[in-house]
Amino acid sequence: MSRISFDADDVLLDHTEKFILWHNRVHGKRRNSFLRYEQFRYYDLSQVLRISPDEAWGRLTRFYESEEFAAISPRSGSQECVQRISSLGDHVVILTGRPTALREMTKACMRKYFPDIGQVLFAGELLPGPEKLKGLICKKRGIDLHIEDSLEQALDCSYYTGVALLNRPWNKSSTIQLPKNITRVDSWEEVYTLASKY
Ligand SMILES: [Mg+2]
Repeated sequence: MSRISFDADDVLLDHTEKFILWHNRVHGKRRNSFLRYEQFRYYDLSQVLRISPDEAWGRLTRFYESEEFAAISPRSGSQECVQRISSLGDHVVILTGRPTALREMTKACMRKYFPDIGQVLFAGELLPGPEKLKGLICKKRGIDLHIEDSLEQALDCSYYTGVALLNRPWNKSSTIQLPKNITRVDSWEEVYTLASKY
């Protein structure tokens, strides 16, 4: 039996799509401020929006309080993929960098859409400092494969575990040579095929 962990936002859930809906409703009225998915060529929101990191964090926290965030939902095919992987007999958990203030809401969302998931792990809670890199948690929890959309997180996790990096606009432009245990994937079928090898 393997231990497989999934990132939540932009892996299982349509975080960026909902952020764009919220942002365009609240901030999209001025010229040139209407956001499109393709503009998310950076993981760092302040780079995407060309605003300061403090301002970007402010917008993210306001998004967390919005109706759009409350309506966050599974990305197409993610529920079936989690269900198929857990039916292999694997232990499936969530490993998220979300603030722990969102714990109850996140757990409720996971129970609703992903009933096969055993646990929701919050990186910010399990690590000593403000650092939210997930690699050490993968090591401590004996994770065999982690599914992620952040290149930085994927690289950190790859020191300890196999990683499936889902292709997204914000991780594609990198010229970094990926280590062998990071596999770029485009589809849930590829995630499932990789997971079944662990
Ligand atoms: Mg993510």
